[in-house]
Amino acid sequence: MQIGVPKETALYENRIAITPDTIKKFIKLGHSIVVERDAGKGSFITNDALEQAGAQIVDDAISTSDVVLTVNSLPIEQINQLKQEAIVIGMMNPYRNANLQDYANRHAKVYAMELLPRTLSRAQNMDVLSSQANLAGYKAVILAANQFGRPFPMFMTSAGTVKPARIVILGVGVAGLQAIATARRLGAVVEASDLRPTVRDQVESVGGKWLDVPMSDEEKAKAKDTGGYAWTPSEQYIKDQAAVVDKAVSQADIVITTAQIPGRNAPRLIHQATIDKMKSGSILLDMAVETGGNVEGSVVGQNIITPNGVTIMGVPNIPSTLAAQSSALYANNLYNFFATLMDDNKAFALNPEDEIQKALLVTSQGQVLLASR
Ligand code: NAD
Repeated sequence: MQIGVPKETALYENRIAITPDTIKKFIKLGHSIVVERDAGKGSFITNDALEQAGAQIVDDAISTSDVVLTVNSLPIEQINQLKQEAIVIGMMNPYRNANLQDYANRHAKVYAMELLPRTLSRAQNMDVLSSQANLAGYKAVILAANQFGRPFPMFMTSAGTVKPARIVILGVGVAGLQAIATARRLGAVVEASDLRPTVRDQVESVGGKWLDVPMSDEEKAKAKDTGGYAWTPSEQYIKDQAAVVDKAVSQADIVITTAQIPGRNAPRLIHQATIDKMKSGSILLDMAVETGGNVEGSVVGQNIITPNGVTIMGVPNIPSTLAAQSSALYANNLYNFFATLMDDNKAFALNPEDEIQKALLVTSQGQVLLASR
């Protein structure tokens, strides 16, 4: 089988879906690899390095490939070049992808890595959301620190005492937890909150303080049974949460928001009235800016300074700012999934009943499968 890797075309995208390490592994499985010229450039992987690992550098990695590995869903021009029945594996943005029917029209089998059943232990080494969010949580703190006009740790100097920075993290999934740990390592005082009360122990284990929102017994029961994802909060919870958030955020130096709901717009957690109370020089970094934003007024790709001196950072695609590393982890995740499509004789063995393959497959045999879930 020929595996093709195009150069990513999306704005803000520096990653690549293959690395010299995974090229060698694919070749060991008996496949040939073509990579579009300069596809590794944004991740500091040269054409020479890809070639030395065994790939062929080409101008068109799509139209002759049986399998296409990608970071983002392909643009329509490339979808229309896919071989009939090609396999496409990547972060296909399945709930917002307007091109799924176009893939189906090519009879492509599209596997959307975001749909991985994350609680399955054999799926953990394929979990692109975790590998990318972990790096993004770290980098969000570094970006905010760079923008902030003060240091994070406490300093006792002869010229005066420097207070530690107060940081609030809203949403404690993979990114939020890494953000807490990173901010703590840099010496900040960190508070955090999430809809899911079960993450309290994780927050405390990395040195954060849990911001508690009161919950009824009914809400506690709802929160338990969501497979690790957010539950739909009651109006009372939203009101109570807003009061807790307002108090913590208005006293914070830096706030990083990471709250996401798979398949839906991100919840709005910080409103203008709270931003108006924040100190001049404080920072709001909205990691959910690309899915609607947790922060009122955040804009993709912009740092907005409000009249009261708060910087609202809408940094898009944070994993891509660490492309050398995020590509390496992402490429490993893709390889690990790809390997499950092969049998012991290194032949393709697509299994529609396999729990992971079934969950990821969004188009097959001319049909879009997602809507029927
Ligand atoms: P995510 O990016 O979907 O969301 C980030 C966080 O935002 C979540 O913790 C969510 O509860 C929170 N959130 C959503 N709406 C909110 C609101 N209105 N107010 C406050 N917080 C809100 O999350 P993720 O990083 O993809 O992680 C999702 C879950 O999957 C987590 O429980 C994570 O631990 C779990 N996970 C499990 C495994 C595993 O079991 N192997 C692997 C990876 C992730």
